[in-house]
Amino acid sequence: SGDLIAHVDSDGYFTFVSGASERLLGYTPERLIGTPAESLLVDEDRPHLARIRSDLLAISASGSGGGAPIPPLLVRIRHADGATLWMECNLTPFVDQAGREGMVMNGRDVTQRHTYQLAIEELHRRNAEILDAAAVDGIISTDSAGYIVYANEQAGRLLGYSVGDLVSRHCCQLLIDERISEAPSEPDSCALLKQIHDQGSIQQRHYTFRHRSGHAISMEISATPLGDQGSLSGCVLVFGPIAERIDDRQSEEQVIRHVTEAVMVTDPNGAIISVNPAFTAITGYHADEVLGCNPRLLKSGVHTPQFYHGIWHQLAHQGHWSGEVWNRRKSGEIYPQWGSISVITDDQGEVRNYVSVFTDISKARQAEERLRFLASHDALTRLPNRSHFLELLRDALQQAQKQAEQLAIAFVDLDRFKLINDSLGHAAGDQYLRAIARRIADAVGPDDQVSRWGGDEFIAYLRLPSGTHDLSARIAHISHRVSAPLLINGHQLAPTTSIGVSLFPDDASSADDLVMAADTAMYQVKGQGRNGFHFYTEQLGAANRERFEVVSELHRALRDRELLLHYQPQIDSRDGRIIGFEALVRWNHPMRGQLLPDRFIPQAEELGLIPEVGAVVLDEACRQLQQWQQQQISIPLLSVNIAPNQLTSALIDQLVVLFDRYQIAPEQLELEITEGVFARADSVLPVLTRLHQMGVRLAIDDFGTGYASLNYLKQFPIHRMKVDKSFVDGLPHDRRDVAIVRTVLALGHNLGIEVLIEGMEKGEQLAFLQELGAYQIQGFYYSRPLPAQQVPSYLAQQPVSPAR
Ligand code: C2E
Ligand code: MG
Ligand code: MG
Repeated sequence: SGDLIAHVDSDGYFTFVSGASERLLGYTPERLIGTPAESLLVDEDRPHLARIRSDLLAISASGSGGGAPIPPLLVRIRHADGATLWMECNLTPFVDQAGREGMVMNGRDVTQRHTYQLAIEELHRRNAEILDAAAVDGIISTDSAGYIVYANEQAGRLLGYSVGDLVSRHCCQLLIDERISEAPSEPDSCALLKQIHDQGSIQQRHYTFRHRSGHAISMEISATPLGDQGSLSGCVLVFGPIAERIDDRQSEEQVIRHVTEAVMVTDPNGAIISVNPAFTAITGYHADEVLGCNPRLLKSGVHTPQFYHGIWHQLAHQGHWSGEVWNRRKSGEIYPQWGSISVITDDQGEVRNYVSVFTDISKARQAEERLRFLASHDALTRLPNRSHFLELLRDALQQAQKQAEQLAIAFVDLDRFKLINDSLGHAAGDQYLRAIARRIADAVGPDDQVSRWGGDEFIAYLRLPSGTHDLSARIAHISHRVSAPLLINGHQLAPTTSIGVSLFPDDASSADDLVMAADTAMYQVKGQGRNGFHFYTEQLGAANRERFEVVSELHRALRDRELLLHYQPQIDSRDGRIIGFEALVRWNHPMRGQLLPDRFIPQAEELGLIPEVGAVVLDEACRQLQQWQQQQISIPLLSVNIAPNQLTSALIDQLVVLFDRYQIAPEQLELEITEGVFARADSVLPVLTRLHQMGVRLAIDDFGTGYASLNYLKQFPIHRMKVDKSFVDGLPHDRRDVAIVRTVLALGHNLGIEVLIEGMEKGEQLAFLQELGAYQIQGFYYSRPLPAQQVPSYLAQQPVSPAR
């Protein structure tokens, strides 16, 4: 069983311990046997065990054997890992075959049960505190015979008793009521309880209580029976004085009667001389708080000084003003009021008073706003509807025009929505639309606006304060966000969209025409098989168009393995020996031919597709390495580019699998990372350290173009720095480039890090670099990146290295 069984001898030492000790206490039986049992307990509990042990010994010595059973002992045990457990131990006297006395201990871990118990006790204590703190009402609870088992402080206060005095009195003793006898007629019957029981409960009924000092007080009682149906285990009474309650209600009614119009009268200097109760109800100020004050104490700060100036001006000239004013209540809340101010003059035409009459219109205003929202928004998605969107768009267009900015309209149509609606039902269809609406709204910027145009169509305008350069990425982002898997009624759906885009002012200048243009573009996407986006116009420029089209095709490229690698040799310029290759990704696009990485890697990054692209590249590089190995073609080192967000523990898992699958030695692989990753040094360091431990080499690519701290060179296990082409181009003439390359070489030399020169194209650079002591070269001067099948013949031409 899971219990711990142990024998303890008369001196308190373990002579036997069952195997459960390891799981329960973290110690093997061997560790425990021969040690004192008490040493397992926390200090405070040790005496308990010692006492029981001596009691048991006494029992067995007296030979009485049976006697009263010893109740289980609850003690705290220290687990080997330092944690404290609650253990319930059953102890019985025991004599072994050799006649030695001791006891058998049967221990069970009750930590969880005990913790619950403590929590429940704590809860009870807290509840009692809360009931005491709820000081308005008296609360009493009784047992099944009507005797009080609990009373809060207020119950005692109302009736003139201390809480202790109330408890164990009978509830009927506290009442003077013909419906209830003074004391229980029979020991186990209670008239009040019976009433409560018969009626299910009592709600706000008036009863007369007897105060301890003898006088009668009327209380309003609510009572609830306790217990299951049939059996009554008691009741809870909640009571409070009636008189005050009626007062409250009356004054409330009074207030309601007067609340309609507030009246405030001031003297000619503006000092308030009279207000009515409605004024108090609206503003929260009592008359004595405002008399003599200037009404400006109600000012909300919403209006400009000109606004008040306008009122005074009109009062002076026309003797009357009416309109809406936003004021501030005593509570600080700002509210709209509607009303009028009149000037009262005497016979001579002198101002005697100003009389202001107003009503609170905040409720009406809220209702109006709600109505306006309903009229202008789609009820399902809560997005602006068609007419409201057109209004917003017109405003946005005006603003864009003023600021000479462009603006894009994206017409988003859900692909195959009808299918979802028909097959999963309308409720699921609604849920789907709401989720998509959320996603589109989340995918656009804070200044952009999304609306539901109708059915399964959404439309958004996107502000373009910095032009169209990132427009395709922003549209791609919407499409990408929407297409995340969506779970509806247990069905996993993969939403896709067709998006048409038009541009202001390029495609049209009016809101309606822009929407139409975007709609037309959307239909082109549908025509081309859905799931993508299309710009209405050519004017965006072929480059931008291609950019977004590339993006929408990248998914397909990954699936159909259209990505491949070229390999650029790295040479030791002293002897022409090949020291390695860099794998560079290419995209064999079925329509556009071979694309270089700068045409799709940044886009893949924007789309969050880098992990997928990176995985394909790594797999292909390792596969190729194995193939060459099998062909007895020896590759000294293969460098693979790693994008910053590829550097996670997933990369390590992936490499472990690849090394095993393709039988690659980690030392054959170099990962090229960029300086940018050191901005996230905390998360990247463990990954790099792990890679280093595995034996994988690390190089910093494009060295000198990124993050400017050199500190990381000391901190991270780096083998090689690759000097970026931009510093090599100017060699040997540009003095700054010369200085930079010289510095990097010196740095590498001092830190024991290799330095490779990238992008060297000209012979004159070679001689100069050799003079500086830079020998590792990668550049068109030696070779362009080669397709894999050309690598063997390139290797075959390599000069036999002179013996050194
Ligand atoms: P990089 O890692 O700095 O790669 C070197 C780039 O310089 C390559 O361009 C190479 O063709 C080019 N290059 C080498 N020698 C010369 C030269 O003498 N003259 C000129 N004009 N160019 C030279 P490529 O293949 O277009 O790659 C561009 C960049 O794309 C790479 O720069 C790298 O940052 C990225 N990249 C390439 N493959 C991958 C990949 O598999 N994954 C990731 N994340 N990025 C990659
Ligand atoms: Mg590279
Ligand atoms: Mg580079």
